[in-house]
Amino acid sequence: MTDTNVRVRFAPSPTGFLHIGGARTALFNYLYAKKHGGKFILRIEDTDSERSTQAAVDAILDGMQWLGLNWDEGPFFQSQRYDIYKSYIPKMLEEEKAYRCYCKPEELDQMRDELKAQKKKPMYDGRCWEKRHQVLDQPHTIRFRVPEGTTVIDDLVKGQVTVDHKEVEDLIIARSDGTPTYNFVVVVDDALMEISHVIRGDDHLNNTTKQILLYEAMGFAIPAFAHLPLILGQDKARLSKRHGATAVQMYRDMGYFPHTINNFLVRLGWSHKDQEIFSMQEMIEAFNFEAVGKSPGIFNPEKLLWMNQHYIKEKPYTEILQGIEQFIAIPEDRKNSPLMEKVIDSLRDRAKTLDEFAKLCTFYTEDQLIITPEDQQAFLTKEAKPYVQALLAKLQELQDWTHDTLEATFNQTLEENNIKFKDLGQPLRIILTASKFSPGIYVILEILGKDRSIKRIEDVLAMM
Ligand code: GLU
Ligand code: ZN
Repeated sequence: MTDTNVRVRFAPSPTGFLHIGGARTALFNYLYAKKHGGKFILRIEDTDSERSTQAAVDAILDGMQWLGLNWDEGPFFQSQRYDIYKSYIPKMLEEEKAYRCYCKPEELDQMRDELKAQKKKPMYDGRCWEKRHQVLDQPHTIRFRVPEGTTVIDDLVKGQVTVDHKEVEDLIIARSDGTPTYNFVVVVDDALMEISHVIRGDDHLNNTTKQILLYEAMGFAIPAFAHLPLILGQDKARLSKRHGATAVQMYRDMGYFPHTINNFLVRLGWSHKDQEIFSMQEMIEAFNFEAVGKSPGIFNPEKLLWMNQHYIKEKPYTEILQGIEQFIAIPEDRKNSPLMEKVIDSLRDRAKTLDEFAKLCTFYTEDQLIITPEDQQAFLTKEAKPYVQALLAKLQELQDWTHDTLEATFNQTLEENNIKFKDLGQPLRIILTASKFSPGIYVILEILGKDRSIKRIEDVLAMM
């Protein structure tokens, strides 16, 4: 389905990290563009100079790159486009689609208070419209004249939404210092950037009528709209910090694959039969607005963890390796050894995150392991020491170092000492890996090889 006229945009305000909700909006835009062979545009809405920061811009770009949501055009910065926006104001005034409002803040406050007292919506009453022909040398804002009538938003997700213009006030499009305001700049940008589909959170639905009226006033073509349902926590409250990490980068730091995040996000408010696991290509092919739900998506961190665990089992070796290298340094020779792949495969069932996975790999990647005092006390006991010594003596003699011979040697030690597996197996596991959660001990011995295994047992015995 190639429609090169599809042009969508992600338009974050850089006031914080890339939030889970923002990332979902970016993803849906990206998927829609890819599906139709269109273009995905990144626009930074940084007109609020008090709240916008460079750090937030960097975090957004970084988060999107990490997720692989690569944009085709931009990033465009609204703060660099004021002259473009302002250039549309004179014509609006001339055509009487906008007018100067000389009301002072106190006057506006009083007007709102009076309306509230009458239980009416506190909207600007348009009083300066009557005086539109007198131009005074006084501070003023520019207001858009909302025409009478109704607007029907034909939303691709919400269906038809009808708004009576009586509900829409004459909004300010330029402040008294001449700077253009939010809804106005969004419309100018979406029009000039030839956006075909505006895909965004449904918290913006309220702005859509105003924006449609502005498109009409300026003679621009109106794009299609798709408003995505909110994302809520499991308690049905709006997703916030108290539901856990909401910044995308935090999931990178916790050891999630970017693909896990995309897969998880695509199911927040969209479904495809009962499929949960999607490759990027599958998401692109299956994505459509018909299957975007009207009700909120529920953020379930356990499901996210489950998905990551799924990908830890499934992802190709190189991707796992790349993932764990964010957390541990692996000496080149060990990394390039075929044993590295064996290490990874032996651990796939034991980790849910790349961070955990990396820790489990340290038995192979590092020489100095740190055994916790608790593990020392519990497993490296006086009783265990002679058994470890007995095993060591046998291992030193062992010529043929294979899984089978190691198993036989180990079992022989158990028999000769009349002990059970755990009496020697657990201490040995701690000695070799500093962890209670490792693959089978013969696999570890095999992977470490004779010299490293023996050295490690000797070193630990010396402190037992
Ligand atoms: N800058 C807005 C936001 O961050 C998005 C506006 C839009 O998509 O139209 O929520
Ligand atoms: Zn006024």
